[in-house]
Amino acid sequence: MEKRGGKNAVDPLKPYGWLVEKERTPSGKIEDTAIIFLTNRECQYHCLMCDLWKNTTDTSVPPGSIPQQIELALGQMPGARHLKLYNSGSFFDERAIPVEDYERIASLVSGFETVIVESHPRFVNEKCLRLRDMLKPDLQVAMGLETVHPEILRTLNKRMTLEDFENTVKFLSGHAIRSRAFILLRPPFLSETDGVYWAERSVDFAFKAGIECCTVIPVRPGNGAMDRLMKDGYFTPPRIQSLETVLEYGIGLQSGRVFADTWDLEQFSSCTECLTQRKDRLMNMNLHQEIYGKITCSCDLKA
Ligand code: SF4
Ligand SMILES: [Zn+2]
Repeated sequence: MEKRGGKNAVDPLKPYGWLVEKERTPSGKIEDTAIIFLTNRECQYHCLMCDLWKNTTDTSVPPGSIPQQIELALGQMPGARHLKLYNSGSFFDERAIPVEDYERIASLVSGFETVIVESHPRFVNEKCLRLRDMLKPDLQVAMGLETVHPEILRTLNKRMTLEDFENTVKFLSGHAIRSRAFILLRPPFLSETDGVYWAERSVDFAFKAGIECCTVIPVRPGNGAMDRLMKDGYFTPPRIQSLETVLEYGIGLQSGRVFADTWDLEQFSSCTECLTQRKDRLMNMNLHQEIYGKITCSCDLKA
């Protein structure tokens, strides 16, 4: 905690961001998905690699503020069929999103086909079913599996076992709620090869548990703790080629949708020759869930 820098200034009555992007749906269509990054209280978990605390408040936001944030963002965004409500923590944590706001939230999002929220598995319980029952759109829950490497998962301080994750996915599928997993590519203390290996095993585990969709996230520095580990030689961000490898693997399984997180990919390659092509390839593979021809470049040799 002491290694991290300051938070950004946020307004409890405004989301700290919103955007619309294309995403492939489970039925294979490519449709607009809106994302609202809600401002709310910092997550209590403090995972080693997490930087989501940067845009959070220290105390709970007042009841009514989350619906107000959603209303504000929806009023300024173009229409979309699906909506992600990401709150830098757990939607079902009452200290983050007051339960009394669920009804108003449900009415604000009634025009969407799908609503996706994120949560630590520990908060997924009857509250999730309450929200589902109020929603007209289908509910989907996104959860950080992070890695199935046993020691690394413990080191990340997620305070979750693989069994917890598996049981939560079962609970959700038992109530006809789709779930997606966030999977880390090359968390600290792993070599490039091991980073790829464990990301692929994590995708295997997620699908076996009943997850419908996996998003592979290359681990970045920037939260203080990761920068320190990087300086001390315990963390190196993955290469963009490794993200391509894991995405190819996941799509090849044909077990569900697999996406690569393509935000800020410049961090994972310094090659001006192939970065744009690789970025386009990843985005196209995300959208079409097909494996496109490999890009070869002289930077492949600079491992
Ligand atoms: S549970 Fe999620 S939001 Fe909370 S600290 Fe961990 S990664 Fe960040
Ligand atoms: Zn290159």
